[in-house]
Amino acid sequence: MRIAMIGTGYVGLVSGACFADFGHHVTCIDKDPAKIAMIRGGKMPIWEPGLDALVKANVDHGRLTFTTDLAEGIDGADAVFIAVGTPSRRGDGHADLTFVFEAVRELARALTGPVVVVTKSTVPVGTGDEIARILAVEKAPVGTSVASNPEFLREGAAIRDFKIPDRIVVGTDDESARETLREIYRPLFLNQSPIVFTSRRTAELTKYAANAFLAMKISFINEMADLCEAVGADVQEVARGIGLDNRIGAKFLHAGPGYGGSCFPKDTLALLRTAEEAGVEQRIISTVVKVNDDRKAAMADRVREAVGGDLAGKKIGVLGLTFKPNTDDMRDAPSLALIAGLLDGGATVVAFDPVGREHAEPLLPGIAFAEDAYAVADGADALVVVTEWDEFRGIDLADIAKRMRGDALIDLRNIFDGAEVVRAGLSYRGIGRPA
Ligand code: NAD
Repeated sequence: MRIAMIGTGYVGLVSGACFADFGHHVTCIDKDPAKIAMIRGGKMPIWEPGLDALVKANVDHGRLTFTTDLAEGIDGADAVFIAVGTPSRRGDGHADLTFVFEAVRELARALTGPVVVVTKSTVPVGTGDEIARILAVEKAPVGTSVASNPEFLREGAAIRDFKIPDRIVVGTDDESARETLREIYRPLFLNQSPIVFTSRRTAELTKYAANAFLAMKISFINEMADLCEAVGADVQEVARGIGLDNRIGAKFLHAGPGYGGSCFPKDTLALLRTAEEAGVEQRIISTVVKVNDDRKAAMADRVREAVGGDLAGKKIGVLGLTFKPNTDDMRDAPSLALIAGLLDGGATVVAFDPVGREHAEPLLPGIAFAEDAYAVADGADALVVVTEWDEFRGIDLADIAKRMRGDALIDLRNIFDGAEVVRAGLSYRGIGRPA
């Protein structure tokens, strides 16, 4: 199969490289010339484990190419995927579809024969209908069809998720489009990855429902953590105790500082806007959004309490800035709300993140950056673990304690054993665990 991928970001680049690895011929297109030049030069514009090797191998085999020229990139394609960003629209939380519709218009004008246009971007219900309308208005070749194929990969484990997906969702009523997508994903049949064929609207909604459900699980366990703290129970054990139940499942039951990232915050909001427009209340998800916003804002108070009730003049070390480990993505990261609260309270902040600094620096002008985790502790009154990077787990706590001015370790990801922290001479506050 010949595939074109419009948008070469976290999703487009990973999907394009994986499709090429399946044996298809893939051209990744991006309107950002710097990004394309960088990839062509062998450097990845994003930090994703294993991606550079996968891209290189497929480029070397001649199956994967990159261009900024859409007409050149889609030439001869059987399917054109759209993987451009759909951020929250400023002010109202609707999904901003500007990039999607721009790409579709450009595509319609460039097409010389029918293709299957596949939306991989997360888009609200009815976007596929609008794409079909634009294609018709722009006189795209007869036989061009529109399918929805939402992406469920997680940053940090994106290649594995793409190659061994729990399921593939394809939404279209067009039998030949279905056949093209079946062929594209055929290499996964060996792993018996189920393909769920639905209508286009159902596929579009399925993606939002999945993210909203996962966001709900996180907010659920976060509220349970608050209850655990009040009644002297341990949320880690509660999570294990319920997670071993197959009906519940163990994933997304890690209590923490609230969810962030490029998907959950914007997708929950966009789902609420869709529901509003449809006149259907979504009380659970609107509560989840509020619980999460409040939680992120409240994290600075935990640090305030740990340093004696006043942040003014305190030096706070922050370990981890990205919204989760194994990515450089800072979009809506909990660290941003936490650090804003610390600075508001009059603290100075020094932070370290193994890969996130480049994206974090422009977002956090008021803080200092350290070269490693130990330097963050130098002279600090408190140390806060915000992102659970593996390299923090084995840190020498006694060395950290020696370097600090104060003794508070606030572990917002529960990566440490509290007793060990105390043995090293520090005080320990986790999330949802007995003091
Ligand atoms: P991103 O911002 O990393 O990448 C989007 C890319 O599209 C950018 O490089 C941009 O330059 C390019 N682009 C925009 N308009 C273009 C055009 N007209 N022609 C060519 N290129 C264009 O975004 P992302 O994180 O990859 O997300 C893409 C979509 O996938 C979003 O809808 C997102 O919700 C969804 N999604 C993301 C993830 C994730 O973990 N990041 C997971 C599943 C789904």
